[in-house]
Amino acid sequence: MSDEKKTVQQDDVVSIDYTLTDSQGNVIDSSEGAEPLEYLHGHNNLIPGLESELTGMSVGDEKQVTVAPEDAYGPRQEDATQIIPTDAFPPDMQVEPGMALEMRDTTTGQVFEVYVTEIRPEGVVVDFNHPLAGVTLNFDVKVVGIRPATPDEIAHGHVHSAGHHHH
Ligand code: ZN
Repeated sequence: MSDEKKTVQQDDVVSIDYTLTDSQGNVIDSSEGAEPLEYLHGHNNLIPGLESELTGMSVGDEKQVTVAPEDAYGPRQEDATQIIPTDAFPPDMQVEPGMALEMRDTTTGQVFEVYVTEIRPEGVVVDFNHPLAGVTLNFDVKVVGIRPATPDEIAHGHVHSAGHHHH
């Protein structure tokens, strides 16, 4: 037995409680009333500006972390919207503002996400910016659990928890 406190390191599975607010104090996201967020540390599963701040924390530690857009979802690009004709969508698809859509670049084959901002008679307005692009993020985080990852988890780069196993 060692009384040295376990701290968050590369390849740990870390559970955090968090509340995310913008610079006006509006709550964007929170684990309150839900399960803590469990992630594999050191595998880019969190935005870089938050993940780096969690390194070295112990269970029970709390921290306020402010992350600039450059270390979160990037700066907001102007004129990054496009109108997609309504008939490009399957007729049974419910498209609503706030939805993320996957688009494929027909030239490169690259798949990327766009975000629906508006439905107009002539089509669906999508924005190539992430909704949090250009936003400074404030996290109140508390580490509530740390465990070593399994070799499978490290190989896959994500957490395997009951009922949440994606491949
Ligand atoms: Zn897996």
